[in-house]
Amino acid sequence: MKRIIVAIDGWSSCGKSTLAKQMAKELGYIYVDSGAMYRAVTLYFLRNHVDWEDVKAVEDALENIELDFRQNEQNGVIEIYLNDENVEYLIRDLIVAEKVSEVAAVKAVREFAVAQQQKLGKKKGIVMDGRDIGTVVFPKAELKIFMTADNAVRVERRFKELVEKNPNVTIEEVAENIQMRDYIDSNRAVSPLRQAKEAVLIDNTNLTQEEQLKKALKLAKNITG
Ligand code: C5P
Repeated sequence: MKRIIVAIDGWSSCGKSTLAKQMAKELGYIYVDSGAMYRAVTLYFLRNHVDWEDVKAVEDALENIELDFRQNEQNGVIEIYLNDENVEYLIRDLIVAEKVSEVAAVKAVREFAVAQQQKLGKKKGIVMDGRDIGTVVFPKAELKIFMTADNAVRVERRFKELVEKNPNVTIEEVAENIQMRDYIDSNRAVSPLRQAKEAVLIDNTNLTQEEQLKKALKLAKNITG
């Protein structure tokens, strides 16, 4: 069976990673969460007080960052490592989410992440989710999906996820963060969030996870045969 690249882009908190993980499992592909890379770089910058408006400081800091994905032996989950430290849990914090879109708008940061993402896709057989996967990282991806959902649904879903980890999180904070990230992501100068013209739109406001997976797998099967 032909092995392809599946690029999943879309707005924040639309369930992109849920779909991408399930698709990768069903197809026997690797799954790469590109947002985790921007989040890990942001965590490094925050911890080391790197001023991301200072080009030289950013370039120097990136020299000291090594990212890799490893599979958790206990539960099979793919987790991101920042300089050999598992930061999969830490990068989901709202403190990181509040700054990640600013950091992800920096040209040098994007070049750093995109080069690694393209390397991971060399052998195909990959599902990657993000904001610029179908437009910039893999413009020739055989399958491009663009995901969206109603704003209220996205806020509710993300709030439920975050409040489990931190009971002090408020729904207003989550709504504000999603709105701010979407604004910055779609208005930045470098690789703004856009629906690629070939991308298939999936609005999952009224879809269950099973329904959206079925729909996406059908699209993939149409290509792989
Ligand atoms: O996907 P996730 O919400 O974890 O991504 C966090 C942030 O990383 C996004 O809000 C966006 O600013 C940035 N990002 C990006 N390009 C990608 C993936 C994520 O700019 N391909």
